[in-house]
Amino acid sequence: MTIWQHNRALESGADFLKGGPKQLYVNGEYSPAASGKTYWVTNPTTGQPLAEIADGNEVDVDRAVSAARAAFEGAWARVKPQGRQQLLLKIADLVEKHYDELAALDTLNMGAPLTRTRAMRGRALSLLRFYAGLATMPHGATIANSVPGNVLSYTVKEPVGVVGAITPWNGPLTLGIWKIAPALAAGCTVVLKPSEQTPLSSLRLAEICAEAGLPPGVLNVITGQGVVGAALSAHRGVNKITFTGSTDVGQRIIAASAGNVKRLSLELGGKSPNIVFADADLDLAVPAAAMAVFSNSGQVCSAGTRLFVQRQVYDEFVDRVAAYGSKLVVGDPADPATDLGPLVSERHLSKVVSYLDIGHAEGARALCGGERCTTEPFDEGYFVRPTVFADVTDEMRIAREEIFGPVISALPFDDIDEVLRRANDSDLGLGSGVWTKSLKTAHKMSQGLRAGSVWVNCYQAMDAAVPFGGYKMSGYGRESGVEHIEEFLETKAVWLNID
Ligand code: NAD
Repeated sequence: MTIWQHNRALESGADFLKGGPKQLYVNGEYSPAASGKTYWVTNPTTGQPLAEIADGNEVDVDRAVSAARAAFEGAWARVKPQGRQQLLLKIADLVEKHYDELAALDTLNMGAPLTRTRAMRGRALSLLRFYAGLATMPHGATIANSVPGNVLSYTVKEPVGVVGAITPWNGPLTLGIWKIAPALAAGCTVVLKPSEQTPLSSLRLAEICAEAGLPPGVLNVITGQGVVGAALSAHRGVNKITFTGSTDVGQRIIAASAGNVKRLSLELGGKSPNIVFADADLDLAVPAAAMAVFSNSGQVCSAGTRLFVQRQVYDEFVDRVAAYGSKLVVGDPADPATDLGPLVSERHLSKVVSYLDIGHAEGARALCGGERCTTEPFDEGYFVRPTVFADVTDEMRIAREEIFGPVISALPFDDIDEVLRRANDSDLGLGSGVWTKSLKTAHKMSQGLRAGSVWVNCYQAMDAAVPFGGYKMSGYGRESGVEHIEEFLETKAVWLNID
């Protein structure tokens, strides 16, 4: 049996990887970067080069924005809401047809287990179909006014214009679809800038959209480093940026967008509390608390990384979570038996390992994991074992800063008022979880938690129809739900003097 045999089979079967460098996708055509430069993305399982990618810059961004503007004012403006609906439904059908290929590209490119990337099929399709449904929804209102004379006033909803969509690497396909689907449904055109580390499924998605009949220029993809996102954020021809990524980059986008007062929606980082009361169904809560952090190797923005457990059950609970984590299979992400694949990159591995070192140095006690996997064949990829740190205090950096790896910081608490205060004592406010059988406790906690999502006796439930987003420095704007399409619409008031 060869090492990483499933991964190698997946890679050799990926036709999209064949045939030279992957180019930029602008105005319905592939073209090299203006600079002629390329870079390589890596397979994080093996640490080996996976694909050569065009390294775009501001010149390429300018060309893509021009194409998106021309489409916005031309071919795309003539497509009626039902036409956009039909196109999104067609895209959904083709994504469904090619889904396994797209999932394989994400697994190879970012290391998420194939079982996970394949399981995201339902989410990807439901987003496309939900926003297809909403394409015919936007409408204004006729509003009674009190101005003298006979003056009719009404509002119309109009697409905001050219959208720059900037995505991270932790769910490349679905995070891209999450932005593109509502933008297209609203009548906007898009320049997509995927993470420099994981551009493959976004490029393949653009091809699929063209196959579905999306006119040239409506969706463009510019690959490259952060400079591409920075150029999009500063470009005066871009009307809106929809961004998912770190709080640090989100703040830079806010500054860059000031030049033309762009609309922004920002889905940023998290350090989400997951709170287990002593009366909870612990058999349900143990695996859920573990997978609230360990799934996708902890590379999930809303991961429940601050695990608060009521003191009466603290020792038992954290031991059980650690036992659960120890049994998880870390390995070849293309192997159906694998629970955790590698982290996305060597750089991110260093970041996560540095937090493991910080946790040890701060005096936290690793009940499981606590280290990088260094034995063969793990040593060439970017693997970290699921880690549960006990004896964590609120002041420790591992309890305050986003690690974005499979690391749980477990903290004991005594009563509800105390845990509510401590849970809210964070600059971030993305997700939160509560485990209890008491309706009163569930209600008080869900009212009091300052976070965009509160999950009670479940964690990370998501649906295309239910809004998701952050409080505080976790960002603003909402994705999913009717709120999301509103993010891509302007409201115009029309006054009609009919005297
Ligand atoms: P990142 O912020 O480093 O990069 C995200 C994207 O921004 C990439 O495409 C990158 O090239 C681009 N970028 C870099 N510099 C830029 C600049 N100056 N201007 C504009 N764009 C720029 O994030 P990451 O490391 O790719 O992803 C991890 C982060 O994303 C974590 O903090 C995580 O919490 C967050 N995240 C949030 C959500 C959410 O929904 N809230 C979801 C997934 C990930």
